[in-house]
Amino acid sequence: MKIKLSDLKVLFSEEQIQNRIKELASEMNKFYSGEEVYVICVLKGAVMFATDLVKYLDMPLKMEFIRLSSYGSSTTTSGKVNAVDIKLPDLNEKNVLIVEDIVDTGLTAKFLLDFIACNFKTKSTKFASLLDKKIFRQTDIEPDYMGFHIDDKFVIGYGLDYDGYFRNLKYIAYADKSLLE
Ligand code: 5GP
Repeated sequence: MKIKLSDLKVLFSEEQIQNRIKELASEMNKFYSGEEVYVICVLKGAVMFATDLVKYLDMPLKMEFIRLSSYGSSTTTSGKVNAVDIKLPDLNEKNVLIVEDIVDTGLTAKFLLDFIACNFKTKSTKFASLLDKKIFRQTDIEPDYMGFHIDDKFVIGYGLDYDGYFRNLKYIAYADKSLLE
């Protein structure tokens, strides 16, 4: 591991993240108004966001966890999405809320939205992402719910990793690009 905790600069504090999640949850509570929802958490990065978000949702919900990967151990996307584990229940006629950590190129989100559209006739499909990094976008994906915009930074913490590390941070941070190369 090249990066140390002391190299990281805080981008969004624990308090900022939690406050924003509460705001997003309140928008979702209004939209679903008590209807049942299937929350699909995209592992591993979205685990913190999804588990904090559901604490503030007040409709009946079920959580599903799927695993996709596009990064490996580098800090740039491979451009290919691998469905590592995408077993899902029958989502026909269900409200589906996909929960992601970050939309970067948008390829992961597109893969998943296409997968759901091809396999199920859902009642609704919404896509929530804690972070939105538009600069490298290769698709026309726009999250329905979005926590924060970020510019050209590789972010770490609160579920997001650097080579598998730092997912446990309560905040989101970044390191200077020179340290990532
Ligand atoms: P996309 O398919 O939109 O390019 O990328 C989606 C996935 O790439 C995210 O779910 C996340 O796992 C990873 N990713 C994209 N940008 C970053 C970043 O700045 N930091 C980290 N740790 N992962 C990222």
